[in-house]
Amino acid sequence: MHEAFKNANDPVNYLERKKDDFFINFKISCQGATSITSFVDFLRRKLMPAIYDTIWKIMVQRIAGDMRATCPEFNGNRANLEKHILYSLAEEENFDKYWKYIQKPKEFFRDYIREHITRYCSEKGNENIKNFLNISLGDIKNTILSAIHKSTKVAKAKGSTASGWLDLFCDHLGSNLIFPRRDLVSMEHQELMDTEFLKEAMSKALDPAMREVEAYFSCMHMGEIVPDIEEILSEHLCGCWKQCHFCNAICTNTIPQHEEDHSVPFHLPQAVSGFSYHKTDQFVTDVCTSDVASDSTFVLDDLQEFRYKKYREAGGDYATWSITPDSSNQPYWKWFVCHFRSKLEGAYGKRFTGKGRIPASWTKITKQDVLNDLKK
Ligand SMILES: [Zn+2]
Ligand SMILES: [Zn+2]
Repeated sequence: MHEAFKNANDPVNYLERKKDDFFINFKISCQGATSITSFVDFLRRKLMPAIYDTIWKIMVQRIAGDMRATCPEFNGNRANLEKHILYSLAEEENFDKYWKYIQKPKEFFRDYIREHITRYCSEKGNENIKNFLNISLGDIKNTILSAIHKSTKVAKAKGSTASGWLDLFCDHLGSNLIFPRRDLVSMEHQELMDTEFLKEAMSKALDPAMREVEAYFSCMHMGEIVPDIEEILSEHLCGCWKQCHFCNAICTNTIPQHEEDHSVPFHLPQAVSGFSYHKTDQFVTDVCTSDVASDSTFVLDDLQEFRYKKYREAGGDYATWSITPDSSNQPYWKWFVCHFRSKLEGAYGKRFTGKGRIPASWTKITKQDVLNDLKK
């Protein structure tokens, strides 16, 4: 949360503010004719945190919305984002990044989203952010001015007290400004003698207040706002993070706690997850979807052996996946296995030899082939 909000909610600051409230109330009561000025001053100080808070929330929404509209990575669901991620991973050819993607996909996605927001805020989005700020400042100012004018008109006609005027004022602000009426309880017993003067004084007090808010947001370190934008984007790009027990492919269901079986359109060569033949250091290069069509078997840590065709009998997470026989698969991870062969051998302490030999056809796949395939 940002500084203005923290200040508004911090107990020490709260007491400090209350102390000021009592003093101002005392001033309002004693000074008679100048009481409206004190009333305005009081209200302005009460409004400030609400303006900060509202502008903050609008900015977060607008930046997230603009990123979703203009960044191809974020204008679809997670499957679309994943395509972009795989594309950039292949372009970069950085094994450490791949490793994180394979082992901790959720963290990888989070970091990827965060990096993009940070880049957006510091580069091309910067001009947009300035525009969003100006529009938000204008909108809020108009909302407050309009609430002042409307409340004054009605209060004047009814001969309302300060309390009545404040009720009207808060009603007119409605949901456009997060401003709790209870914050104003300590000043509501005041008499309101001159509503017209109140309107003028409030309108006048608004300009420096808005300038103060503008200065704050213009100098704000954009890093402060990134986590809130990230929250919104992540919510749109959420989904299940379960990984296939054989190959580490990530379930593509868009509902985090979905009821049906986990599934993914393309499984990976099992070596990607470090899977090896029982009692050997030889990687399994088969893809789950072809294994479940074969008579091959796999062995669990407790040495129980199961047929791939009946993989669900292994129970636990194996039973919660739907892996259907399919011979079609992507070139992507075959290229990855060839390209990072020695890195994978080093990372898992296993080898692409014997039964785990890499098929010759895989070595013919080029990086351009996989990039083209992702563009489809
Ligand atoms: Zn799999
Ligand atoms: Zn799932």
